[in-house]
Amino acid sequence: MENIADVIVVGGGTAGSFFAWWMAEKGYRVRVFEKQKLSDLGKHIEIFHMEKIRLEEFNIPLPTPPELIHTEEINFSYSPDLKVKVPVRGTFYVMHMPRFIKRLHTYAQKAGAEFVEDASVEGVIIENASLVGLQINQNGKNYEVRAPLIVDASGLAAAVRTRLPESFLIENSPVPPEDCLYVCLELRSEIPEGFPTGSNGYMYHKAFWNKSYGDDVVLGIGQPNSFEYAWRKHKEWREAYFGDPGKVVTRRQGAIPFTRTPFSLVGNGFMVIGDAANQNKPFSGEGVTSGFTAAAIAVEVAHSAFEKQDISMKALWDYNVRYQRGQGAKFAASFAQLPATVELSQKDVNYLFHKGIIFTSDDFEALNRNYEIRFNPTKLAKIALTLILGVVTGQFSGASLVTFLQTSSLAGKIKNHYQKFPTNPAHFKYWAETAQKLWSRA
Ligand SMILES: Cc1cc2nc3c(=O)[nH]c(=O)nc-3n(C[C@H](O)[C@H](O)[C@H](O)COP(=O)(O)OP(=O)(O)OC[C@H]3O[C@@H](n4cnc5c(N)ncnc54)[C@H](O)[C@@H]3O)c2cc1C
Repeated sequence: MENIADVIVVGGGTAGSFFAWWMAEKGYRVRVFEKQKLSDLGKHIEIFHMEKIRLEEFNIPLPTPPELIHTEEINFSYSPDLKVKVPVRGTFYVMHMPRFIKRLHTYAQKAGAEFVEDASVEGVIIENASLVGLQINQNGKNYEVRAPLIVDASGLAAAVRTRLPESFLIENSPVPPEDCLYVCLELRSEIPEGFPTGSNGYMYHKAFWNKSYGDDVVLGIGQPNSFEYAWRKHKEWREAYFGDPGKVVTRRQGAIPFTRTPFSLVGNGFMVIGDAANQNKPFSGEGVTSGFTAAAIAVEVAHSAFEKQDISMKALWDYNVRYQRGQGAKFAASFAQLPATVELSQKDVNYLFHKGIIFTSDDFEALNRNYEIRFNPTKLAKIALTLILGVVTGQFSGASLVTFLQTSSLAGKIKNHYQKFPTNPAHFKYWAETAQKLWSRA
């Protein structure tokens, strides 16, 4: 069978469309297979947000209404007892996801990429240890397609990655429910006076109350395990903090991976990007712009591999190196620290907010901008002293302090290890074994 394109992209969501767009701009023949109708994409989320700096970073023209719902300059983060309200500055756009995806499709199509809708990838074709094609089911009709490079951008399903054989050295297991975030959004209107306005985060509950269309609001939460569990937590949080204000207009829900990125993201003829590669931000689960970061690297590496006429794992390896040493290292460090923050009690979190530790404007802004908080020795000493004081005075738990210190040290080691991701694939096995040992302690 002949190749139908230079590149096949599986999934026409944000990561797949972005990748298809920039590969097509570079002159490659790109075909995107999407299992849903293109006009349905993003409807399950409807409203989302993105920082202005990221749109600029990725050369995406800024949105305008009706795709742009409104702009926020500040987001407030609350302590669980609501006594501390921390302003977090930074311009972000609240946007309409289906319209944003449609705009990305238009850019990709104008550059020459073709989209095939209602076409679900149901199998992989491996020959001579390379991924050479896919089995497609389109409206009940089965057929095969081939291309030198196949990119998995199929979101949480990871439709290609999870079908690859062990010999590809790529972790191929699906993300279990306890390592996913089930995100539930409730849009409400006719909110009486006296309730929050603008953007408000309740990080202890992993929940938010944000402005949506006009005077309407969106109440969201992200929780593990199942939609049922997440909606239950949504109700508990909403009732405890706000009661039952206004009226429910509609509900939206979707699941995203919330776990570390696989150690390797490439194989012979294969790359994986976006949610299919668990590239979501550890402090929020958001994945649109972090997926763009990965996709932008993947485009450059794929282009260089095509120029060398070599689409082997070795030729694509630089995507692993650049991703894991950069965003990957920062995200890995944050994920390693996650147990210390998500398992804190309300009392502990209140103490941190009240004493201005970690949950400060500067720290939140650093996380949004740089994906990490840097502690200088003076700041670290101050944090340690304040935490010890908290334990001595009974305001912060001793167990949390121990977890905090252990995970901070481990996070540093993990980040350091990722920054030494091997440039030579021959050294990968040893690197991955050490990484696995570090993660087993996280
Ligand atoms: C309710 C909710 C709110 C969110 N809010 C934000 C936010 O405000 N900001 C932010 O940055 N992130 C947010 N996220 C996360 C963000 O939506 C994802 O991280 C991002 O969209 C991932 O993009 P992706 O292209 O990798 O995957 P997806 O957007 O999931 O796209 C994957 C595509 O692949 C297709 N596909 C799946 N299987 C197959 C198959 N077998 N064959 C062919 N096609 C297939 C799917 O139909 C889908 O269209 C939110 C997520 C949810 C659920």
